[in-house]
Amino acid sequence: MTKPVILSGMRPTGRLHLGHLVGALENWVRLQDTYDGFYSIVDWHALTTNYESTGDIRPSIVDNAMDWLACGLDPNRSTIFVQSRVVEHAELHLLLSMITPLGWLERIPTYKEQMQELSGRDLHTYGFLGYPLLQAADILVYRANAVPVGEDQVSHIELTREIARRFNHIYGVIFPEPQALLTKVPKLPGTDGRKMSKSYGNAIALTEKPDVMKQTVKDMMTDPARKRRSDPGNPDICPVGDYHKVFSDENRNTEVDQGCRSAGIGCIECKMWLFESLQKKVAPIYERRQELESRKNDVTAILEQGAAKAKAAAGKTMELVREAVKI
Ligand code: SF4
Repeated sequence: MTKPVILSGMRPTGRLHLGHLVGALENWVRLQDTYDGFYSIVDWHALTTNYESTGDIRPSIVDNAMDWLACGLDPNRSTIFVQSRVVEHAELHLLLSMITPLGWLERIPTYKEQMQELSGRDLHTYGFLGYPLLQAADILVYRANAVPVGEDQVSHIELTREIARRFNHIYGVIFPEPQALLTKVPKLPGTDGRKMSKSYGNAIALTEKPDVMKQTVKDMMTDPARKRRSDPGNPDICPVGDYHKVFSDENRNTEVDQGCRSAGIGCIECKMWLFESLQKKVAPIYERRQELESRKNDVTAILEQGAAKAKAAAGKTMELVREAVKI
């Protein structure tokens, strides 16, 4: 029996961090048995906000692919590829752009949010306005049935569904309307309590050397009200507490909660517990990543094979699309 198709992707953005692990990669690995997964390193998307500085894109591609593989994405079960190697994404993007009303793109909430967040960049380009449409093409070119997303991306999937409906209405039914496969993304702030972001330098890299990770954890911000060892704290307003909730087991979380609120434990002890929990999770990933470092050619070959497989699937869709559009 054929499995339903899912598509997901990540921009090539330098080293991946723990947020990528718990927000996407673990979920992708879990979904491998149930879905026919297409996982794309979306390098064209990196251009939509950063067209002037493209030097990091190529080195990040193999780097990110190694992290994906180290986390357990299996090229025998999933298709792992680079977006720009499958030009059918661009062809479908162009055709969809002909039928997409501008208002649909302008009203996407992330458009205005990002405009404000990235105020130092020139985002008055079609590429930026149209990036949700490129995402729609990424999804529809595989006639994906579902897309694993967090809450913040639901409006993009809704746009994809609307575009699929519009295309199907005008030219005949080609595309399924993909469902949002909602992923509960756990709360994981940066080490300083702000939103985790590479530009704030407050993220913990997924494949950080253990001694560097230990120091980063030691330097993490804590509940600001807990100034002295004898002051009780509150793990619910402490980034270390947030990390324990994601990475430590129930018993450890009980010890943290009780110890923190009664000032029974110190923050250093609490942080070392967190370091232990993190290591349990990332040590096997770190080892696999080390091993992959010596096999970069194999990683490149995996991406090439993935692109060939993706191209075959996307090519089939585009034959139907060209026929439907009569072009
Ligand atoms: S004991 Fe742990 S949870 Fe409580 S304030 Fe210190 S680091 Fe945060």
